[in-house]
Amino acid sequence: MRWTERQLAMLREMGVPPFWPTAPVAAAPQDAPQDAPRPQTSAQPPRTPPRTPPRTPPAALPATPPAPAQTAAAAAAAEAILGPRPTGVDAMDWPTLRDTVAACQACGLCQSRKQAVFGTGHVQARWMLVGEAPGEQEDRQGEPFVGRAGQLLDRMLAAVGLTRSEAPPEQQVYIANVLKCRPPANRNPLPQEVAQCEPFLLRQMALVQPDLILAMGRFAVQSLLKTSEPIGKLRGRVHEVQGIPVVVTYHPAYLLRNPADKALVWDDLCRARELQVSRAAARSGTHSGPM
Ligand code: URA
Repeated sequence: MRWTERQLAMLREMGVPPFWPTAPVAAAPQDAPQDAPRPQTSAQPPRTPPRTPPRTPPAALPATPPAPAQTAAAAAAAEAILGPRPTGVDAMDWPTLRDTVAACQACGLCQSRKQAVFGTGHVQARWMLVGEAPGEQEDRQGEPFVGRAGQLLDRMLAAVGLTRSEAPPEQQVYIANVLKCRPPANRNPLPQEVAQCEPFLLRQMALVQPDLILAMGRFAVQSLLKTSEPIGKLRGRVHEVQGIPVVVTYHPAYLLRNPADKALVWDDLCRARELQVSRAAARSGTHSGPM
């Protein structure tokens, strides 16, 4: 496979040597999500060790599809749906929305969470990123993407001039998850949980009104776009939700296990950046070509 200059620049920025490992790097438990792993073509050991050692042996890592124990846990959780969805979410302002999420008991995940993870970033961000659900560290710290997947995400953002730290809305992103509460043992979100939580994410999108949404990973992509198509089929074109363009890409946790696919994600980031620049130009009246 040949790499373009921009792919190589991204790999340098993300700390990945061009001759990266072809074997998966073990993901930590909080990095559970979840795009279908691909068959590996080489049994060579990784040349780049993980930055932090995994806290559990690879054998204990959550797998896709879910193991029978996960299925049983999922079934139990499905029965544990507690209450009705909060009403009036689509008209809430930021403080009310945040308080409502913090107190939400619309599904069983409220029983096991330490706290709900609302979202973070600039409320007028031009880029909104959507992930799957909090993991262990996010549940503990109350912020999305703070585990190893989050560290990779930060490097991906830096590669296109973005940050989650304080900055003007052109540079600072807004990050939220489909689910606001951690599924126990990082199991896959259940459809009922996604449905119960959906109004919160839709309201966040409506309040931020970003130029684009970057949907990361199968659950974010499929629940936003209401499709069961795999990411591989959805990448490469721009989708739309609530009038907002959506660019689809792989989840950073998937990239920890499949580092060679970082090149694909780099292409998605470039596509998203071009889209955002063109929307900003159209807004300021400096755009001459078609969008
Ligand atoms: N993975 C996600 O999808 N979201 C997080 O907040 C952390 C890991």
